[in-house]
Amino acid sequence: MTDPDCIFCKIINGEIPSKKVYEDESCYAFMDIAPFEKGHTLVVSKEHIEFLTDLRAETLTQLILTTQKVAAYILKALPCDGFNILQNNGECATQTVPHVHFHIIPRWNNNTEVHWHSSKAYDSDEEMQEIHKRIIFNGQ
Ligand code: AMP
Ligand code: ZN
Repeated sequence: MTDPDCIFCKIINGEIPSKKVYEDESCYAFMDIAPFEKGHTLVVSKEHIEFLTDLRAETLTQLILTTQKVAAYILKALPCDGFNILQNNGECATQTVPHVHFHIIPRWNNNTEVHWHSSKAYDSDEEMQEIHKRIIFNGQ
């Protein structure tokens, strides 16, 4: 399934140029046009699906295995010392292209500017318990 208005679908079918890094029958990887770091790469499923949670298990498996393969290659070939995998779902999570993708963001040991962790505290233990009750997996 593709969406004729989607930038990533257009990249996959060659309507929009991209710096391709890898391609197989189910996934396509290319350099991000506005990189967080040099070598920032996106890995997209060839299926046009917006949220990770809507992917078929087989498609998600292919996508994460391809992300692992491309990240391993970048780690050696760039090279870099580590990397972040980022995956946004929904505008509120800063997803700007509604087509599932993983970001591979190379990182280096000498870079002290990566501050990923910002803590958002619960107002109370009760609030944490209440949220725990809502999200604890009940098998559905
Ligand atoms: P997200 O915010 O997770 O939806 O990420 C979308 C990413 O796609 C951003 O990092 C953009 O820089 C990137 N992007 C948008 N258009 C292009 C394009 N034509 N070629 C390469 N990367 C793109
Ligand atoms: Zn698409």
